Amino acid sequence: MNIEVSRRHFMKLTGAGVAGSALSAFGFSEAEAQLAAHVRPFKLTNTKEAHSTCPYCSVSCGMLVYAAPSKTEPGKMEVVHIEGDVDNPVNRGTLCPKGSAAIDFIKAETRVKYPMYRKPGSDKFERVSWDFAMDRIARLMKEDRDTNFVETNSDGVRVNRWPTMALLSGCATSNETGWLTYKLARGLGIVQLENQARI
Ligand code: SF4
Repeated sequence: MNIEVSRRHFMKLTGAGVAGSALSAFGFSEAEAQLAAHVRPFKLTNTKEAHSTCPYCSVSCGMLVYAAPSKTEPGKMEVVHIEGDVDNPVNRGTLCPKGSAAIDFIKAETRVKYPMYRKPGSDKFERVSWDFAMDRIARLMKEDRDTNFVETNSDGVRVNRWPTMALLSGCATSNETGWLTYKLARGLGIVQLENQARI
């Protein structure tokens, strides 16, 4: 039977055991036991790994994001570690200082995690449901498109432009999501389309 063990997985399995095994080979069983008692378990043991893309700049370095069961919210996972993805051809495992500190961005108290809405005349934002946010965005987009859509230019040539709307796509999207984003934007007639990631 073939057992496939990746380099990262191999390090997880063997990291804490190497020193103790060497001592055992020389007959230091007691010393091995004491050493083993003081070796901290590898911090990524029992974590869940996900591939992502750095959110900061258009280099779009690949990231590995590790999550473990939350200590404060039972039943939830929380990000415990981020590092460069060695298999990503953009950065080959490296991250600049900004990307290396991305976990601070994820855990920042000021990070916006939910749709927020400021009512007309209000001086503060309030949390709203995703349904509310999506309905409102769709309605405002339709109203604007109905008002400003340009079917033909001054020469009578059909152009189907929606010049009053712009779309900014996310950085952590896959090629497939990028393709769908492009299709949606161009299908609606949006001219100003920007995607942070250049991959
Ligand atoms: S790690 Fe640095 S260089 Fe790479 S995408 Fe993030 S901010 Fe840009």
